[in-house]
Amino acid sequence: MKNLDEVIKFHGHICPGLVLGYRVAMLALKELGERAKDEEIVAIVENNSCAVDAVQVLTGCTFGKGNLLFKDYGKQVYTFIKRPLGESLRISVKWESPQETEKEKEMWERYSKGEHSEEVLKVVHERKTRKIDSILNATDEELFDIKRGMIEPPAEAKIYPSVRCSKCGEKVMKSRARVKQGRLLCIPCYEKGK
Ligand SMILES: [Zn+2]
Ligand SMILES: [Zn+2]
Repeated sequence: MKNLDEVIKFHGHICPGLVLGYRVAMLALKELGERAKDEEIVAIVENNSCAVDAVQVLTGCTFGKGNLLFKDYGKQVYTFIKRPLGESLRISVKWESPQETEKEKEMWERYSKGEHSEEVLKVVHERKTRKIDSILNATDEELFDIKRGMIEPPAEAKIYPSVRCSKCGEKVMKSRARVKQGRLLCIPCYEKGK
């Protein structure tokens, strides 16, 4: 799978979270079309897990372009909005990982305490592979609750001019500069002086 290989290369390893993100992203592309070259699609992610890397690589909604919005809710929910009309797709992960055996629980415990013996690694690895296979073989409906609708797309990312911090002299985006006693300061300098 070419797309999955690309995602693994970017992320650095394969893991169940990444594979879930891969399925989220593939579904988003199936419903909303092409990967975003610019900001044609906006993604709102409600966690910062491994899955988000797959979303960035495959949908083109990236941190750097500003069309990846992070809400720190700790929820496995991904919303995609397509410009200009605002067709939206809300994907909520409902997948549950396969039941753990007693042996797997025990080995995981030992792994978490830092044991990396062959015996432990083998079971931990098999467990991970079983989860990944389960995600890859499930249907979209088994993995996700999917809601389609319309959402007003957020404003496109803006480029702001820079100003110089009057304390450290480094450049800072104007909209992030703070004013203290009539001087413009970057946030770290402003907070140091509090
Ligand atoms: Zn990972
Ligand atoms: Zn400064």
